[in-house]
Amino acid sequence: MITAKTPARQISAWQRELAQAITDPAELLRILELDPALLPAARTAAARFPLRAPRGFVARMVKGDPDDPLLRQILPLAVELEPTPNFLADPVGDRAAVAAAGVLHKYHGRALLLVTGACAVHCRYCFRREFPYAESRASADAWRSALSYLADDASLREVILSGGDPLSLSDRRLSPLLAALDRIPHLERLRIHSRQPIVLPERVDDGLLDLLARTRLRRVLVVHANHPREIDGRVREALKRLAAAGVTLFNQSVLLRGVNDSAATLVELSEALFAARVLPYYLHLLDRVRGAAHFEVKEPEASAIMKVVRQRLPGYLVPRLVREQPGQPAKTPVG
Ligand SMILES: *Cc1c(COP(=O)(O)O)cnc(C)c1O
Ligand code: SF4
Repeated sequence: MITAKTPARQISAWQRELAQAITDPAELLRILELDPALLPAARTAAARFPLRAPRGFVARMVKGDPDDPLLRQILPLAVELEPTPNFLADPVGDRAAVAAAGVLHKYHGRALLLVTGACAVHCRYCFRREFPYAESRASADAWRSALSYLADDASLREVILSGGDPLSLSDRRLSPLLAALDRIPHLERLRIHSRQPIVLPERVDDGLLDLLARTRLRRVLVVHANHPREIDGRVREALKRLAAAGVTLFNQSVLLRGVNDSAATLVELSEALFAARVLPYYLHLLDRVRGAAHFEVKEPEASAIMKVVRQRLPGYLVPRLVREQPGQPAKTPVG
């Protein structure tokens, strides 16, 4: 966290970027030369789930296009406030899966640690937009109980750092956490779920690479990109540095109406990921969270899109289409 007391020289470039993210809808519309008539609705929807987008991510959007697929992921819209009966606050049953403060344990052999509620970007479709992260995450003190939960369950081979975005934490805060995980003998793998290498590639700096080099655990990073235009030259460089450091890279996406709901876009996304050393992992059907109904692509259409994707790509570039069903022992394959 950046506080008034932090001397300027200790703030890294990525922290400055993070602090300067766009949070004012009026500024976003101005930068992108969009119709100011969008503003009142954007303000109303942002009062429920705030706007947040790093400037470098916004710079990848096309000016003057209200339907830009990157913009659609972050622009608060009036439609979010319409009542949609089947869309819930906690569609994936996360509350029920809290095993200890800050730990979600749903699946065999891996547990997910909620290390922070903070994200560099606020994705309008996020199933966590309504989740009480402030209550559920492991704060620095509560890490102790989360860590003892992991240490006590010898069936665990993998710990997943999630949130929020775990790379929102400074290296200074991540470092003792990684060291503590390192000391749990049955853990073999460290997996990080983060959108930051995509939306804030500055985060992948020497400090982070040093930190990742110090752990004995095998390292997996699952990034989150939904559209090929999210992957620009800087993102590619960041991902290549991670790959060169021995981190296994995957991507997960969400199938989103008006963003990536075509075979052509998904094919381009897989190609762009592979060019950056990343393999596609999951393509999630939208979790039915309140405020995100307008993003939904239903199962029959999703399966039809995937049929075309499979015809156009080698098998290793085809993501697995899945949905998360509360109470199931794994993500459920679709189609
Ligand atoms: C999705 C998820 C995982 C990871 O599942 P994988 O199939 O291993 O990628 C782990 N824990 C929780 C709680 C999850 O929601
Ligand atoms: S970065 Fe991930 S956790 Fe954060 S808002 Fe976006 S989808 Fe949700």
